[in-house]
Amino acid sequence: MSGQAKLELIDVHKSYARGKKRHPVLASISLTVREGEFVTLLGPSGSGKSTLFRLIGGVERPDGGTVLIGGADTTGQRGHISYMPQQASLFPWQSVAGNIASALATAGIERRRAAALAAEWLERIGLGEVADEYPQVLSGGMQQRVSFLRALLMPRSVMCLDEPFAALDALTRAEMQAWLLRLWEEERRSVLFVTHSIEEALTLSDRIYVLSRAPATVLREIEVPFERPRRADVWKEPAFVALKEDILALLERGEGRG
Ligand code: ADP
Ligand code: MG
Repeated sequence: MSGQAKLELIDVHKSYARGKKRHPVLASISLTVREGEFVTLLGPSGSGKSTLFRLIGGVERPDGGTVLIGGADTTGQRGHISYMPQQASLFPWQSVAGNIASALATAGIERRRAAALAAEWLERIGLGEVADEYPQVLSGGMQQRVSFLRALLMPRSVMCLDEPFAALDALTRAEMQAWLLRLWEEERRSVLFVTHSIEEALTLSDRIYVLSRAPATVLREIEVPFERPRRADVWKEPAFVALKEDILALLERGEGRG
């Protein structure tokens, strides 16, 4: 796994004011996402994962530390990543195709080309029939497919996905994981994915950073050893079960290696 780091965080830290005190959320986070790599941040609720995404996206500034995207310092700057949130956040007044096309146009793609790209890709992922529908008539899973496609097509070097399946029922979630895996394995974008599900992290990722509770640090970095294309029943492998137990124990102890 060689290649240039698409995203690099160096000693990023952040605290919020709570009354007169500072409440530290991220103690110190350093990590990298290489070209075409699927990296997951796995941490308990409240460990600062969404906060970290706001810092990477430049919506907020860290108290200290550096965000590098494609080797350039982008700390506190917007417009360098594409982002997929937990809830699809599609505009209800625009069609499915319109939602994607207008996002691409805002990102600088010429309008006619943006519309053509949206139509072509919706067809390709089997959503051609709903291209002209409004998002609210789609199921939650379908809305997340549209939201993922929008993030995928944005002309950005890194995709950040913040617990994109957390609001879906278990069956839809498993289908969505398989769908995302297939599409990602064809496209190989650089992805930083957030989840608190150990199985989801092991099923999808090349590498996992396990975060502690807030104030968050990286407890461990794990290379996921399973081959690509990854099998849907990879969870049956003894090595999967063993890794899952290791990570669970690590999260329960909440300590680093040693
Ligand atoms: P996660 O996404 O891992 O569940 P968050 O990043 O949403 O965690 O939140 C981590 C902690 O930071 C929480 O305790 C939350 O209350 C606090 N927090 C997040 N944003 C703010 C803010 N703007 N002001 C104050 N506290 C915040
Ligand atoms: Mg969150």
